[in-house]
Amino acid sequence: MTDGRALAREFLEQQRQLGGNPVILPEGSTPGNTQARPAREGSDLPPPGISYDPPGGDLFSNDPVPQAISLDAIAQLVAGCTKCRLCEGRRHTVPGEGAADARLVVVGEGPGRVEDETGRPFVGPAGENRLPQFDEIAACVPYLFRQIDIVKPSVILAMGGTAAQTLLNTKQSLGALRNFVHRFRGIPLIVTYHPAALLRNPNWKKPTWDDVRIARRLIA
Ligand code: SF4
Repeated sequence: MTDGRALAREFLEQQRQLGGNPVILPEGSTPGNTQARPAREGSDLPPPGISYDPPGGDLFSNDPVPQAISLDAIAQLVAGCTKCRLCEGRRHTVPGEGAADARLVVVGEGPGRVEDETGRPFVGPAGENRLPQFDEIAACVPYLFRQIDIVKPSVILAMGGTAAQTLLNTKQSLGALRNFVHRFRGIPLIVTYHPAALLRNPNWKKPTWDDVRIARRLIA
């Protein structure tokens, strides 16, 4: 072995790609001194957290979602979707909005009353919608995952426990998930409170702003 450090780096990168937490060797370490420490993408960024890499859809199946090549195509599929019971009383679908080349993607909760009335996300008073149930989330996430694949953002901001737990495939609480740089399919993901929670608890505005500033620093 002529360069143990290079081999160790290669091994750790393979572990990261297989879903393990990213780690780096400290500068100046030698092959005989390979104690690893958590990676930081900047010296004052939070440590790495969960890395979730769900399988993509089968491009060769009859499922149109993995074959959709634009956000408009996804929105059209969502408009006609009847995969879960939430289609029964809806007035408008809320597929999200924004530029297809956005560097930041913000993921929230299920649509509330005004969102249902307008078809627009993050509008209207808080607290008008129940949390989505497990089977509803499972039916709907392929659309969200495909949207993220199409946009390929630099950073994802997960607002609220439902978004965070869904994108990281975990049941950990929002409080436990904050203050880490997680990864969704390799994309840095920051967890923070949902805007509705801030209306109920203004004390969370400061930590939310701290989270947003971390996300902003990660934007490439
Ligand atoms: S799976 Fe999603 S888009 Fe389809 S009906 Fe349910 S909530 Fe609406």
